Amino acid sequence: MMPNKKKWTVGEIRAALTAKKISAHELAHEHFARIERENPKLNAFLALCPERAYAQADKIDAMVARGAELPPLAGVPVAIKDVISTRGVTTTCGSKILEHYVPPYDATAVVRLEAAGAVVLGKTNCDEFAMGSSNENSAYGPVRNPVAPDRVPGGSSGGSAAAVAAGLAAAALGTDTGGSIRQPGALCGIPAMMPTYGRVSRYGLIALASSLDRIGPFTNTVRDAATIMGLIAGRDTRDSTSASHDVPDYMASLDAPVAGLRVGIPREYFGPGMDPAVRHNIEAGIGALEKLGCKTIELNMPHTEYAIAVYYILLTAEASSNLARYDGVRYGLREAGGGTLMGMYRATRGHGFGAEVKRRIILGTYVLSAGYYDAYYRKGQQVRALVTQDFREAFERVDAIVTPTSPVPAFKLGERTDDPLAMYLADIYTVTGSLAGVPGISVPCGKTPDGLPVGLQVFGPHFGESRVLQIANAFEKVSAESGLPN
Ligand code: GLN
Repeated sequence: MMPNKKKWTVGEIRAALTAKKISAHELAHEHFARIERENPKLNAFLALCPERAYAQADKIDAMVARGAELPPLAGVPVAIKDVISTRGVTTTCGSKILEHYVPPYDATAVVRLEAAGAVVLGKTNCDEFAMGSSNENSAYGPVRNPVAPDRVPGGSSGGSAAAVAAGLAAAALGTDTGGSIRQPGALCGIPAMMPTYGRVSRYGLIALASSLDRIGPFTNTVRDAATIMGLIAGRDTRDSTSASHDVPDYMASLDAPVAGLRVGIPREYFGPGMDPAVRHNIEAGIGALEKLGCKTIELNMPHTEYAIAVYYILLTAEASSNLARYDGVRYGLREAGGGTLMGMYRATRGHGFGAEVKRRIILGTYVLSAGYYDAYYRKGQQVRALVTQDFREAFERVDAIVTPTSPVPAFKLGERTDDPLAMYLADIYTVTGSLAGVPGISVPCGKTPDGLPVGLQVFGPHFGESRVLQIANAFEKVSAESGLPN
C-alpha cells in the first residue's frame, strides 16, 4: 500500500519506486484523486491528461519490473502552466481566445521532463497570457492559496504554485517574465526558481514578452529545483535565444558550505511599502545567512526605482506585438463580426481578450507609436541597460544578492483588482532581475504572525544558478531553526 504522504520529493519518489513501496501508476492515481478532491476549491488545474500520465507511469513501472536504471524524474507527477504548449492537451493561456486551442507539439521543457521520466498530470491555471500577480486575471476564475483559501496564490503562475503547495503535484513548471514564478512561490511558501534568460529553451512557450520570458520550476525543496534545472536547462536548436553555455552539475555544489560567500543587501529593497512582518522575517533570514558565515555587504542599486516603470513600458510593447497573432485567422476563437474583416478582428479580439490584456495591448501600442517611441520605448530600453548595469557592478563586489521576494504576503481575493497600479507594485522586487536577465530564486523564509508564507529572494550573476541554488539550499536547511515562525 502506498504510504499516505502529502508531499513527495523527487528523492523520496525514487526511493519508494526502487524499494517497490509504490508504483508510478499508484502515485499518479493518488495525485489525480487529490486533484479531484481539492481542485473544485483551489481551481489550480484547468485540464488533466490522465491517459498520457498513466501511459508514462506504466512505462516507468515496466522499467522498475525489469530492474532497469531509472531516469532522474522517474514517476514524478508534474503540472505544467497553461502557457506552455503540450501536444494534444488544451493550452488556453488562461484566455477565452484560446479556449479550444490544442497545440500540435510539446514545448522543449516538457519534452525534457518527460524524457527524464516525469509524469505530466495536466495544465495549471494562470493569469491571462501571464499578465498579473494574483491569478485573478484568468478567464477561468481565480486560484485560491492553499495556505489561506480566502487569499490569492500570487501570479501569474498561481495554479502551478498552488498545485505544488497543496500536494497535487510534486513539482510544476511556471513562467517568469516579471516575477510570475518567484512571487507565487513566495506567497504559497515553496521554492520557485527563475533561471538566467536563455538558460531554458522557450520553444513552445506562448510568448508574453520575448526578451523577458523564462520557464522554471516550483518544487517542495531547493534540491528538487536543482534537479529539474539540470534537466530542462541547455541549448535547444529550436530556440535561437537559448544559451549554448554548458549546463553545470547543479547538484555538485548544492551542499557546499556558504561560509565566506559575500551576500549583497541592496538598500533600495528595504524602503517604505514593505509589510512589517515581511521585513522582520527577511531581516531574520539575513541573520541566519550571517550565522552560516556569509559576509553581508550593503549595496546601492540606484536604478531600482525605475524598474517597474521600465518593465511596464517594455513588457506592454512586446506583448502588444506578440498578441497581434490572435486575430481570429489562425488560432483559437473567431467571431463573425458582421462579415467584414475589420468586424471579425474587432469581435474576436473584443470578446476573446480580458480587460488586463486589452489594457496592456493599448499601452504597448501607444509606447511604440510614432512620436512616443523615443520618449517611452527607446528610453525604456536605455534605462533597462542601467538596471542591468546595477547588477553587473554589484556582482563585481558580491557573490549573490538577497532581498525580499514580495513586499507583502498573500493578499485577499479581490483586494487589488480595482487598482492595476497597486497590482503592478507587487512586482517591485522581482522585475529588476527580470530586466537584467539574471537568475533568481524565492525560498521560504518563515511565516507572518497570521500564518502567511514569506519568501526570501536570492539573485546570482548571469548563469550563476549553481551559486543561487547553493545559498538557497543552505538557507532552507537552517531556516527552520533560525527563530523564524514556520
Ligand atoms: N506580475 C507581473 C505582470 O503582471 C509579472 C508577470 C509575469 O512574470 N508573467 O506582468
